[in-house]
Amino acid sequence: MLLRSGIGGPAVGTTLRLHPASLVSGIYDEPQDPWYGPAMAGVMNEFADADSGYGFLIEAVQHFPGLFSSIVPWLGGAAHKELAVQYRNRVDWVALVKDRGVGAVTIDENGEAVHTYPFDDELDRKHLREGLVAAIRMQEAAGANQIYVAGQRFAPWQRGEDLDAYIERVNAIPIGPGGTPVFSAHQMCSAPLGADPATSVAKPSGELHDTRGVWIADASGMPTCSGVNPMITTMALARRTATNMLAANA
Ligand SMILES: Cc1cc2nc3c(=O)[nH]c(=O)nc-3n(C[C@H](O)[C@H](O)[C@H](O)COP(=O)(O)OP(=O)(O)OC[C@H]3O[C@@H](n4cnc5c(N)ncnc54)[C@H](O)[C@@H]3O)c2cc1C
Repeated sequence: MLLRSGIGGPAVGTTLRLHPASLVSGIYDEPQDPWYGPAMAGVMNEFADADSGYGFLIEAVQHFPGLFSSIVPWLGGAAHKELAVQYRNRVDWVALVKDRGVGAVTIDENGEAVHTYPFDDELDRKHLREGLVAAIRMQEAAGANQIYVAGQRFAPWQRGEDLDAYIERVNAIPIGPGGTPVFSAHQMCSAPLGADPATSVAKPSGELHDTRGVWIADASGMPTCSGVNPMITTMALARRTATNMLAANA
């Protein structure tokens, strides 16, 4: 909306952050009923600050068959079906990166939003790989009998096989289209709050630098990514901006 309206200044859309993420699945002897329970039941944050404030989380997520069947390795129709029917005994963990790199939001000739995210920051790519490996080792330690990562084109690791050799194969998969898919549920920072109109879109209060009466109150206003699931942070930012709007109009 800012780009279409030609307001917000030069920083609009230049610092999109996404918490790039991917998945590791484990198959257990006992039913796990992954469709049941809270959306986000557990988080491992030991490596959240692995490198100068950046790192990764491992999150235990509730999930449904349609979307999550898409990461079952494709080894042919029968093999896919065999793995897919193990869904009840499956646990998926998300490796989620607190990104230092940025993407962009622009508009096309019709004024429609166009998002790009090169995922070319070496630290972020290292953290995604480390996150996948940590999740693989956690699945093995928790007792999984089979493990596979999103995008793998070879048979799952089976208990009894060499785990380090499997991890080596996983690390050889390229990140991105055709390899390990990278997804995002956390779009942030594309209209950040800040003091400098060259690098931010709105003042710390939330009101645009260049347009009175237009306020940023959503996840786009975060100056950097939250590094955790951003719902609560977004609600806090919205409340903060709303309080500032009220004060400005008092
Ligand atoms: C699958 C998924 C799972 C998630 N799980 C979690 C979780 O477990 N925990 C957590 O903390 N966060 C989670 N998140 C992230 C969280 O939902 C978002 O960070 C949060 O909703 C962002 O809030 P927002 O107000 O910035 O944007 P939104 O909630 O997306 O609100 C934007 C609103 O603007 C409206 N809108 C868009 N364009 C226009 C327009 N042109 N005119 C008028 N209205 C418009 C949209 O309809 C929408 O209602 C998840 C996100 C996804 C996608």
